[in-house]
Amino acid sequence: DRVIASDATREDDALENSIRPKRLDDYLGQQAVRDQLRIYIEAAKGRGEALDHVLIFGPPGLGKTTLSHVIANEMGVGLRQTSGPVIERAGDLAALLTNLQPHDVLFIDEIHRMQPVIEEVLYPAMEDFQIDIMIGEGPAARSIKLDLPPFTLIGATTRAGLLTAPLRDRFGIVQRLEFYTPEELTRIVRRSAQIMGIACDAEGAAEIARRARGTPRIANRLLRRVRDYAQVMAGGAITRDAAEAAMRMLKVDPEGFDDLDRRLLRTLIDSFDGGPVGVESLAAALSEERGTIEDVIEPYLIQQGFLVRTARGRMASARAYRHFGLPTSKAPPA
Ligand code: ADP
Repeated sequence: DRVIASDATREDDALENSIRPKRLDDYLGQQAVRDQLRIYIEAAKGRGEALDHVLIFGPPGLGKTTLSHVIANEMGVGLRQTSGPVIERAGDLAALLTNLQPHDVLFIDEIHRMQPVIEEVLYPAMEDFQIDIMIGEGPAARSIKLDLPPFTLIGATTRAGLLTAPLRDRFGIVQRLEFYTPEELTRIVRRSAQIMGIACDAEGAAEIARRARGTPRIANRLLRRVRDYAQVMAGGAITRDAAEAAMRMLKVDPEGFDDLDRRLLRTLIDSFDGGPVGVESLAAALSEERGTIEDVIEPYLIQQGFLVRTARGRMASARAYRHFGLPTSKAPPA
């Protein structure tokens, strides 16, 4: 269980819901994405139409789900939520689609994990607001066409490359979320602290932000743990000292790395001579799944220049060697 895990499994509770931004103005950072969406939303509303289908991609915890809710709120429409692996039969998707109100948002998380047969139901739905469904079996089976209300599909995926081309091509609006800067995360931490009713000064917030791996979900999760620490050990207020002491306890280092990150980099350096090594071998050495490495651990290490992805595999950069106080002679420049 990683305190810096970027997946959503641990905190779907009331506090989490109260922190989640509801409007574009509260959705901090991602300036370019926000500016564009504001225009598209206003234009669609002005024409009295559903917003074009939106594809949002970016690593876990950067705000894909939040943004889809924000879009629905700003459009003033309802939102139905599902995810690629949950839709087992074409009929499940048909039921969702036919129950939408005009202009509603259907949010499909992990859309790249949808089965191919289900994906094909989606094509005419997205393009012509129609679905073909089969009723009956054997010789009596026939296909009927159903009209759907105009709706907006919002698909979320961790990497755009995972989507089939025909699906990707059917999204009119494609937005990529970037890792947040420490300044943006500081604002997010201060906003969350205010909603949670905790005193948190600018330096305390910055200390949390710096270690949050560019990810709002991690920033909020760290904030909750630091809050506990501050409450019991530091008189309730989150200052730099309280944040630093809490992070030491959590074993989250100043780069925001935890044991798993350090283990990945050390395995690369110690067992594979710094690489290059294929992701499968690395996964086996770490007893982790390949997907966990690619989606959860790696993106931040790569973005920060600790890990380099080459055609021949992963390599530890000079920065990674320096992080552990090792000579950098064998490492490629980051
Ligand atoms: P994803 O769907 O990409 O995994 P979420 O949308 O669930 O990520 O976001 C994780 C949490 O981070 C949200 O619950 C929300 O509180 C916070 N968050 C995400 N994006 C922002 C943002 N732009 N501004 C403020 N908080 C955010």
